[in-house]
Amino acid sequence: MKKYYLPFLFILMLSGCKKDDSTTPDDPVIPPATSAAVYTLTDNSGNCFNATIQGTYAFGTTLVSTVNRVVLNVNVTTAGSYGITTITVNGYKFATSGIFSTTGNQTITMVAIGTPVNAGVDYFPVSNGTSSCGFTIPVYDLTSLDNDQMYFGNPSNAIATSDSTGNYLMRKSFYTLSYNKDRGTPNWVSWHLFSNDLGSTPRQDDFRPDNTLPSGWYQVTDNDYSSSGFDRGHNTPSADRTNTVSANSSTFLMTNMIPQAPYLNQVVWNNMEDSLRQLVTQGNELYIIMGSYGTGGTGTLGFASSIGGGKVTVPSNVYKIAVIIPDGSNDSSRVSAQTRVIAVDILNTNTLNSNWKTYRVSVDAIEASTGYDFLKRLPVPLQAILESQIDNL
Ligand code: MN
Ligand code: MN
Repeated sequence: MKKYYLPFLFILMLSGCKKDDSTTPDDPVIPPATSAAVYTLTDNSGNCFNATIQGTYAFGTTLVSTVNRVVLNVNVTTAGSYGITTITVNGYKFATSGIFSTTGNQTITMVAIGTPVNAGVDYFPVSNGTSSCGFTIPVYDLTSLDNDQMYFGNPSNAIATSDSTGNYLMRKSFYTLSYNKDRGTPNWVSWHLFSNDLGSTPRQDDFRPDNTLPSGWYQVTDNDYSSSGFDRGHNTPSADRTNTVSANSSTFLMTNMIPQAPYLNQVVWNNMEDSLRQLVTQGNELYIIMGSYGTGGTGTLGFASSIGGGKVTVPSNVYKIAVIIPDGSNDSSRVSAQTRVIAVDILNTNTLNSNWKTYRVSVDAIEASTGYDFLKRLPVPLQAILESQIDNL
């Protein structure tokens, strides 16, 4: 759906620019939607009320139209077309156009265009000629994002709007994920792991539905997995979050789970998770992404393509990518062609080798299987080197 949005806008802009000279007197009356709308921007002392800023803004990083957006509230008194372009501030601007088909309170989505030049906070005034408001955008120095749960980027360009049902971004304190409403599972979960995360908090075991999903979305329950032949397989492991009770408890939200074959979960995957935590105790910090794709796995009750009465898709493949760097700061600047990157892609079955190392693949192979772009915060030539190798340590 998303990919049709921009071309659609573009066509609207084009058709709005040219006068239709081919109209004859007998043609039907032009529908009211093509005339200019009358609407007000909802202002709150110079700021657009409830403006929602989407995406991360970093200086030197070109903004992405499907990710870097601002949603504004408007009140429409006459339906019709609208278009707003802001001034350029710090190397970038925002623009939108479209048609309000009804009156009343609704939203418009401003799309970012350009590349921020400096870190800081930028103020964008917005005006439609009769009303105005404004919003601020924090522009980061990437080094200040050290230890961010999604530090190496958003592999699927997930966004936090409820119409993004197959790729819904959820930024949580202890991990960030892309949720898939149709599958009832995350597409991927991304997190940072370093020594501060490892403590002595016991496993909380408080599996529960995630009530932060958009209203009306089904919240997968613990019960959907019971007697299914599949484990509630953590993406961010419980044992990676043992510093505080709230950190550990957060890993038991059902949005962090996939139906995972018990031998894969309890043996192969568990061994790999232990190996990665050992790298942390040896003085490293890790950026990890776990995800799943495909349909159909084999648990203790045999093959299944879904569980929970069809509400949760059983993935065919489960993968993990880990970037290992020595403890320190300015993380992206310390990634080089020599940086160790471990990736595995494993079938979701019970008949596997217990040694996770036999399932190592290149990141490029996972990119080809998923269509995602991992590690995209790194320069493309460096990605090409790191992503084509298969770890052999
Ligand atoms: Mn690649
Ligand atoms: Mn990549």
